[in-house]
Amino acid sequence: MNSLQLLGCDKKYDEADIVVFGAPYDGTTSFKPGTRFAPNAIRLDSDAIETYSPYQDKDLEDMKITDIGDIELSYGEKKQVLDEIYTATKNILNDKKIPFMIGGEHLVTYPAFKAVFEKYPECQVIHFDAHTDLRQEFSGGIFSHASVIKRVHDLIGDNKIYQFGIRSGLKEEFEFAQEHNYIEKFSANSINNIIPSLQNKPLYITIDLDVLDPSIMPGTGTPEAGGLTFKELHDAILSLKGLNIVGADVVELSPEHDPSKSSNLVATKVIRELLMIIK
Ligand code: MN
Ligand code: MN
Repeated sequence: MNSLQLLGCDKKYDEADIVVFGAPYDGTTSFKPGTRFAPNAIRLDSDAIETYSPYQDKDLEDMKITDIGDIELSYGEKKQVLDEIYTATKNILNDKKIPFMIGGEHLVTYPAFKAVFEKYPECQVIHFDAHTDLRQEFSGGIFSHASVIKRVHDLIGDNKIYQFGIRSGLKEEFEFAQEHNYIEKFSANSINNIIPSLQNKPLYITIDLDVLDPSIMPGTGTPEAGGLTFKELHDAILSLKGLNIVGADVVELSPEHDPSKSSNLVATKVIRELLMIIK
């Protein structure tokens, strides 16, 4: 349990519909580590933005959200870390609440999603990212932030993953995405076209913040030029409102890589807007 709390997420656990938790793991980060510092940096700086969203005419204070702090992780043991995140997510789902995770690197999505998938086998996934994350393995392991969506695909199979903003990966990864998933390269303009196929099905949303352009999100470990504007990502998020969202995460903020710290506020605003479309 942390003393810091995310903006407006101060309801009692028993009363909450949505449970925010941090998974501050960056053990497989390939380029610049530092995402383990994201959850608390977001909590600390979240004081600087409003709980009210003029976009959605909604206030976090009026929602039933609790922030239970960071999961305690056994940093040296990757498999154990994955188990710890899985168990924490499972507990939230068993309490009939919606898990909302703040990473950490993108690998943390796998154990959280696995718990969600076990409860909702029909679950589909919306994935915003600069990277395909479809490596079969990376740096000698199958569990990496560069292979996380491939692991999700191992669980749920074809035609259930929708990838947006993707602009980096191996040729084989793009070919895999085209054959087995839905992919829109470089942007998220077609998201409205897929809404009909998401209706009435459980949906998990994973946002790798490097989907945003490095000019607005320099605070990430593997920045990739040519990304979405805030408005483009925000519009895409709002278009998912009203769907049956059963879990979500926001990952890959690395606060130390943006000396201005404005990336923390961009991340917080993404989180606020995403929380508000869930319930
Ligand atoms: Mn990613
Ligand atoms: Mn990425």
